[in-house]
Amino acid sequence: MASNKKMLVLPGDGIGPEVMTEVRRVIDWMDKRRAVGFDLEEGLVGGCAIDAHGIPITDETMERAQDVDCVLLGAVGGPKWDNLDFNIKPERGLLRLRKEMDLFANLRPAMCFDALVDASTLKPELVSGLDIMIVRELTAGSYFGEPRGIFDLPDGQREGVNTQRYTTNEIIRVAEVAFDLAQKRNGKICSVEKANVMESGVLWREEVQKLYDENSQYDDLELSHMYADNCSMQLVRAPKQFDVIVTDNLFGDMLSDTAAMLTGSLGMLPSASLGAIDETGRRKALYEPVHGSAPDITGQGLANPLATLLSFSMALRYSFGLAEDADLIDKAVENVLAGGIRTADIMQPGMAKVSTEVMGETLVHELDKLAA
Ligand code: NAD
Repeated sequence: MASNKKMLVLPGDGIGPEVMTEVRRVIDWMDKRRAVGFDLEEGLVGGCAIDAHGIPITDETMERAQDVDCVLLGAVGGPKWDNLDFNIKPERGLLRLRKEMDLFANLRPAMCFDALVDASTLKPELVSGLDIMIVRELTAGSYFGEPRGIFDLPDGQREGVNTQRYTTNEIIRVAEVAFDLAQKRNGKICSVEKANVMESGVLWREEVQKLYDENSQYDDLELSHMYADNCSMQLVRAPKQFDVIVTDNLFGDMLSDTAAMLTGSLGMLPSASLGAIDETGRRKALYEPVHGSAPDITGQGLANPLATLLSFSMALRYSFGLAEDADLIDKAVENVLAGGIRTADIMQPGMAKVSTEVMGETLVHELDKLAA
């Protein structure tokens, strides 16, 4: 079906194309059964683009990425390209997308499906029903701040330097994304920094509080502040106290990985990276699973397609305003897992182990049932 919903699909390398095939199955289902169509374009990124064009992403693919409503990416990289020069490695394709689309807010949900509570290293009662969202600032802070480098000192020692640096605007724009998300969820937002020891943390706390105090549209939100070390402790002590967490690049990197492990498997974790809203009201967006290209299982039907499918569900929710369809997909995933269907990575005793393809087919059957 022709549509005004434009999506660029970049399956990438390794298991990327395998998991994306199963997402395409669900997209076809939506077209036929829900009359929700997409204008899909497909392109190359990562190692496959290096093989075809000598570079990890072409200018033409970049232009298409800038022009669509969102990009859905599989994974990039693999041993075949490991020895290439740093600047033409597959990962540079992904970094170029993030940089040139100016994707400053990284959304990492940590949801624990009831059927998988035993996959977590925490006690089931701590993670059952868990549904939190970490919003990480992605384009500033200590991973980008200048000066940076390794310098020789006069006394013969060397000194490694990175700079934690944030401006008002960089803080406010990511906090706004997090506030908007919290309003669509349970209305609780926790801002995380180290204001006790870092000036950038003091500024972060002040600006987030000011945004909240000076804008009455956020009156329905409950804002709290927490130091990052305490937050990491609270995430493993009582994770369900959180709804949305907003934090900087460095703390977000660590806290989102901690939160991810509350849920068990890499094959289940989606993500979104969002940019600014342009003059047409469209927000630049890239959706991708948290996992990589998994060369150890490529081509064996072992890959779990659910992380990529849940990334597509996030695209429906945040780029296309199709919350009902996103809920339907999330529910289908929940039901399939509750029915005991598992790919190898999340296999448990007594469950039915299925291939990537059968997981995709089972999901579509479940969607049929839910939509009947
Ligand atoms: P990885 O995420 O690819 O794999 C880690 C482990 O998890 C492997 O044992 C793998 O088999 C398993 N796994 C990952 N996704 C799975 C899935 N969907 N279903 C079942 N099992 C799954 O990380 P890695 O091994 O460190 O990296 C492999 C390659 O991927 C490298 O080239 C790396 O640079 C690249 N990478 C890419 C991205 C990305 O595209 N965003 C992210 C991380 C790593």
